Amino acid sequence: MEQTLVIVKPDAVARGLVGAIVRCFESEGLVVCALKMVWLAQKEAEGFYQVHRHQPFFESLTRFMSSGPCVPMILEGEGAIGRVRTLMGATDPHKAAEGTVRRSFATSIERNVVHGSDSAASAAVEIPYFFNRLEIVPAAGRDNSPSI
Ligand code: GDP
Repeated sequence: MEQTLVIVKPDAVARGLVGAIVRCFESEGLVVCALKMVWLAQKEAEGFYQVHRHQPFFESLTRFMSSGPCVPMILEGEGAIGRVRTLMGATDPHKAAEGTVRRSFATSIERNVVHGSDSAASAAVEIPYFFNRLEIVPAAGRDNSPSI
């Protein structure tokens, strides 16, 4: 089983698309094992997107990501990282395949409604950026209730 970090970005939250986007993933069998709403400070968005710090769009991207609340979540499933990337579609919605989340909802290469970890190494860094251990309920073993 694999876990990946997905973020419904501020543009999609503002447009009331949280449910529709979660549905796209759940209907493909991915399981939500953590989910919350946060409003990042620009510094926090900069920390999350450190890998892009030398890109010309870094300032604009981190301003956008801190412009309103976003909804990070952890999705779990066999091959979850790759499956989420496929379901999301290409970064630029004009290049994203028909039926993908970005093709369906995104308005620009920056305001592209959703983030998904691009590798196991990224997921291992991105998941704890937003969630601590107590906030994560793995899909496996859900039928066990907590012991008193
Ligand atoms: P992703 O893995 O598909 O999200 O794409 P990247 O990791 O390459 O980029 C991270 C995010 O930066 C994207 O999801 C976009 O929101 C934004 N971004 C990427 N490329 C561009 C660009 O050329 N211009 C602008 N303004 N934003 C971009």
